[in-house]
Amino acid sequence: MAAKSENIGFDPDLLRNKYREERDKRLRTDGNDQYKEVEGDFKYFVEDPYVEKIEKSPENLITEVVIIGGGFGGILAASRLRMSGVDDFKIIEKGGNFGGTWYWNRYPGASCDIESYIYFPLLEETGFIPKHKYTNAPETLEYIGKISEKFNLSENAIFQTEVTEVVWLENEGLWKILTNKGDDIRAKYVVHSNGPLNRPKLPAIEGINDFKGHTFHTSRWDYQYTGGSSKGNLENLKDKKVAIIGTGATAVQCIPHLGEAAKELYVFQRTPSSIDERNNSETDEEWFTKLKPGWHNERRENFEGFLTGNFQQKDLVNDGWTEIFRTILGSIRSSAPSKITMFLWFLGGLFTRDFYKKGIKNYLMDKFISHVGEDNLMNKVEMVDFEKMEKIRARAEEVVNDPNTAESLKPYYRQFCKRPCFHDENLKTYNRESVTLVDTDGKGLDKITEKGIYFDGKEYEVDCIIFATGFEVGTEYTRRSGYEIVGKNNLSISEKWKDGLVTYHGMHCRGFPNTFFFGPAQGGFTANYTHSLDEQSIHLSYILDKMRKEGKNYVEASEEAEKNWVDTVIEKARNMQAFQESCTPGYYNNEGKPNTSPQNNPYGGGSLEFFSLMKKWRKKGSLDGLEVQINSFN
Ligand code: NDP
Repeated sequence: MAAKSENIGFDPDLLRNKYREERDKRLRTDGNDQYKEVEGDFKYFVEDPYVEKIEKSPENLITEVVIIGGGFGGILAASRLRMSGVDDFKIIEKGGNFGGTWYWNRYPGASCDIESYIYFPLLEETGFIPKHKYTNAPETLEYIGKISEKFNLSENAIFQTEVTEVVWLENEGLWKILTNKGDDIRAKYVVHSNGPLNRPKLPAIEGINDFKGHTFHTSRWDYQYTGGSSKGNLENLKDKKVAIIGTGATAVQCIPHLGEAAKELYVFQRTPSSIDERNNSETDEEWFTKLKPGWHNERRENFEGFLTGNFQQKDLVNDGWTEIFRTILGSIRSSAPSKITMFLWFLGGLFTRDFYKKGIKNYLMDKFISHVGEDNLMNKVEMVDFEKMEKIRARAEEVVNDPNTAESLKPYYRQFCKRPCFHDENLKTYNRESVTLVDTDGKGLDKITEKGIYFDGKEYEVDCIIFATGFEVGTEYTRRSGYEIVGKNNLSISEKWKDGLVTYHGMHCRGFPNTFFFGPAQGGFTANYTHSLDEQSIHLSYILDKMRKEGKNYVEASEEAEKNWVDTVIEKARNMQAFQESCTPGYYNNEGKPNTSPQNNPYGGGSLEFFSLMKKWRKKGSLDGLEVQINSFN
C-alpha cells in the first residue's frame, strides 16, 4: 500500500480498492457447489475415529422427549429438563459420547477463543473452575462429562446412532424417530439440536480421490497416523511431508503443532485469516471462588452487550472480541448528542406513534442515526475497521521474518467478513525452515495427484493431506442434519422452508407440532454460541413445564403468530447486503452469494433484545402465539 494519508497512517481509498480487488479474485459462480458432500466415495471422511464401533439391537420404545444431538445444545436441553423434573427423555447422538462439535474437533491445538468463563454454560450450577481464560478441547470435553455426570445424562443417551427420519403420527399424537441402527422410537416431543457446523465439507478439486497417501478432515483427526493428542506432540510425523488445505479458524489452531512435528509442512492458503493476539492466562481461583451469585449471566450479558452494540461502562471480559466493539462504539459515541438533545428527542417521541411501536431504545437510536447521518456513521465504523485490520496486517509483518510470506498472510477485507481468529503461535510457525506457505492468491489448488498437490506448474509430493476446509453452512437444513422431518398432512420441513425460513421465535414451526428447533435461525445469534443454546433450553423447559402443569399434550405455533414473527424478523433484519457483497467469499456471506432473503437471518434486534423478549414472553405466562391443547389420540 503506497500512499498514506498524513493523519491516519493509511489511505482509505487505496484500501477500499485493494479489498475490492482481493474479493473479485475470489468470487466464483459455483458458490457452495464448489464443495463436495462427504458421502458415497467420500463417506470415510466422516467415520468416527475416536471409538470402537458398537453393535446394538434396535430399540422400540416410547418416551416423552427425544433430543436429537448431544452437543452443548442437547445436553443443556437435557439438563434443564432434568432440573424441571422431566426424566423420561432420550438423547440420540451420532458420536460415541456427548460433545457435539467438541467430540469431533479434537485436532491438535483445538481450543476456544471465546472466554471460558462465559463459554462454559452452567458454571454456577456445576461449580467447575476452568483452568485458563481460554479453554481447550480436552478441558471442554472434561466439562461436558461433568455436566453429564451431574445430571446423569448418560443413562438417557443413545450413542453412535444417526437419525434418518422423523415423522408425525397424526393418530397417535407422537413423533416416530427412525435411525440407522433400526431403532423405531416414539416421542411426544422432539428437540432438534443438530448444530450449525456439523457436516464437514471437502473442496471439489480435480483428482481428490486419486491421492495414494493418507488423508483426513480436521474434524476426524487421525491420531493413529500422526501420533500425539489434542495437546500436540505428533511424533509420527517427524519423517512425513504433510500438506494442509485451508487457513480458517481450525487450521490457525493446528498449524503450529503440524509445523513443530512434521518433517515438512505445506500450508495451502486461498485466503488468509485475520489473526490477533489471544493472550491466554491462568485462572485466579481466589477471584473465581469469590464471584457473587448471578455473576455468570451478568458476565455473558456484558460480553453480549458489546457485541450487540450497547455501550457499557465496564468491560468484564476485556479481550480481543470486546476490544473490536468497544473501539467501534467509542467512535460512534464521540458523535453522541448532548443529554439535553436526547431529553428533547425523548419528550418529542412521547407524541409519536413510532416511539411506542419501536420502544424507547430503538426510537432514540433511529433519531441518533438520522442526527449523525447514516453514511457518516458507516464511514466512522469503516475507519475503525481499517485501523484494526491495519494492526492485524502489521502484526503479520512484525512476527513473520520472510517479507513475501508476511505479505501473503495479510488479510485484506473487513474484520467481520470472516471469523476473526486469535492465536499467539500461528504466525511464528512460518519462521520454521520446514514450513512453506503456498499462497494460491485466492485461486485454491489446481488439482490433487497420486503423489500430492499440484499448483501453478509445481507438484508438491506429500505423505499426507489434511483437509481443514470447514463445514456446510449455506446448504439445505435436511442435507446438514442428515434427516427429513415429515409433519402434519405429510408436509416435509424441506417443503415448508423451500422459499425461506418460517418459524415462531426460531423454535416452533406450524405443521410440526410438539417440535422445538435449536439454532440461530430467526432467533438470537451470538458468537458465544452456548449462551443462546442455554437460553433456548430455558425456554424449552419452561414451555414443557407449563404444559405439564396444565395437563396439555399438544403445542403448535398459530398461523398468525408464525406470520407475525416472520414479519418481525424481516422488519428487524439488519441490511447487511451491501456489507456482505463487499466481502471476500466465505461461509459468512454464503460463499460470495449473500443471502438476499431477510427472513433467513437471526433476529436483527440482537441476541440480548431477543433473550429479553423471550423472558418477557415467559413472564406473561400465557404462551402467546402457541396453540396449546389437550388432544386425545387413538
Ligand atoms: P472455515 O470454513 O472457516 O475455513 C475453511 C478453509 O478452507 C478456508 O481457509 C478456505 O479458504 C479453505 N478452502 C476451501 N476450499 C479451498 C480450496 N479449494 N483450496 C484451498 N483452500 C480452500 O472452516 P474452519 O473449520 O476453519 O472453521 C469453521 C468455524 O468453526 C469457524 O468459523 C468458527 O466458527 C468455528 N471454530 C471456532 C473456534 C473457536 O475458537 N471457538 C476454533 C475453530 C473453529 P477461503 O477462506 O478462501 O474460503
